[in-house]
Amino acid sequence: MKKLIRNAFVVSVDPAVGNIDGADILIDDGRIAAIGRGIDAADAEIIDAAGHIASPGFVDTHHHIWQSIIRGITTDWSLGDYLAGIRMFIARLYSPEDMYVAQLSGALQALHAGVTTTADYCHNLNSPDHVEESIRGVKDSGARIVWCYGFNQPPLSNPAFPDFRARADYLVRTARDHFTDRNALVTLGVCPEESGFWPDIESGRAQFESARTVNARLFWHANSTRNAITGTPNVDAGRAIDAGLLGPDTVLVHMNSATAAEWRQVADCGCHVSITPETEMQMNMGWPVIGQTMTHGINPSVGIDIISNNSADLRFQLRLLLQAQRWAQTADKTGVLSSGVSLSAAQALTWGTLNGAQALGLDHMIGSLTPGKQADILLHDMRGITTAGWDRSQPEATLLLQCGIDTLATVLVGGKVVKSGGRLVADEAEVCRKAEAGNARILDRIRDNGGLRRALDENLRRYIKPSDETGRAVYSYS
Ligand SMILES: [Zn+2]
Repeated sequence: MKKLIRNAFVVSVDPAVGNIDGADILIDDGRIAAIGRGIDAADAEIIDAAGHIASPGFVDTHHHIWQSIIRGITTDWSLGDYLAGIRMFIARLYSPEDMYVAQLSGALQALHAGVTTTADYCHNLNSPDHVEESIRGVKDSGARIVWCYGFNQPPLSNPAFPDFRARADYLVRTARDHFTDRNALVTLGVCPEESGFWPDIESGRAQFESARTVNARLFWHANSTRNAITGTPNVDAGRAIDAGLLGPDTVLVHMNSATAAEWRQVADCGCHVSITPETEMQMNMGWPVIGQTMTHGINPSVGIDIISNNSADLRFQLRLLLQAQRWAQTADKTGVLSSGVSLSAAQALTWGTLNGAQALGLDHMIGSLTPGKQADILLHDMRGITTAGWDRSQPEATLLLQCGIDTLATVLVGGKVVKSGGRLVADEAEVCRKAEAGNARILDRIRDNGGLRRALDENLRRYIKPSDETGRAVYSYS
């Protein structure tokens, strides 16, 4: 069935289409068939969008969706606390059932916030059942997801995957069982362990090679820590590039302490970068690297990172990044009255849409309202008190700085309506009930295992320590 979105203010994020007031969008077989004024489609279902802005769905390039049921736990934590408290402790307490409900509720809250596509860095796959339930959760949500098979696992006394080979074999099976259709809503990525966990470079090479064996895109935490003793950069990306591990299929996440030489290497390699401003600034990873990416012609995109810290609304991350960088670029003129700002809100909207699609290798399908692309579309109702009197000359800025989840009335993914009248189409009450139950189970297990404070103190001593004074790693299982 065709759909016709009628009479919207279209913000396309496609220079060839531009912004059009009073435009229609024709959707046929899940794709955008046409955009323009006065489209005639007598056989189409009509979606009246008068008084609405139509824009492409947001694209989040870094999100650990599995943490959706431990909401807000890390809000006053550093990165060391996070590694000790979640990666080394709470991660162990998740059952496959917990993974399912976290994945489902997390992907739905992304849709509710207008994030139609998410790169899900799923690095808590403690058993084959955790893998299966994680995939089932995101597939049940109706969101577009690059679901990434993580090679990390927390310290387990009796791990279901006893070694790398077992985990790599299960990746091959996962690709065969779940990801044979490259045009499906949920596709496959891989996230190798951080280099601090590699005993040697060959360990890293095996992880990157296993991803390429199954044609998966790569997502990798890099350069977010420094050597704890010397303070020198860990040069994660530079070493990986020297070893031939990175390429245009790689999304580097964070990169805050990358050196000038590494930035040149990353640009030459054609890698993409995902920036998560809220966790990076809170957790002392460093200043977000939007300036370096633009200077070196590298594609920057933006991620939520963790619901255990901040909300699923990508708009907050884009605004934080935009304003932080505006300040940084004029820091030497602080207090001087001058005209204009260094970055536009329209640029920031592109980071969260088209650039994200490029990072995921999906820009031929999503990231802008363009005929031929998938109909991943947001409709913001501009007629309420939040946006009355909005500036028609700057719709991109309005979308980022004025709109919010409360103005987001309708969301489509691949032409299918997943949010309507401001409410999810899915059974939200039932999913929330399951998420609350999952949250309660995890909190019970935290208490039964000695509590969070004790785990933080013990694990900080035990795991979060320099393992190599040359600067290769700052944390270790040893
Ligand atoms: Zn992350």
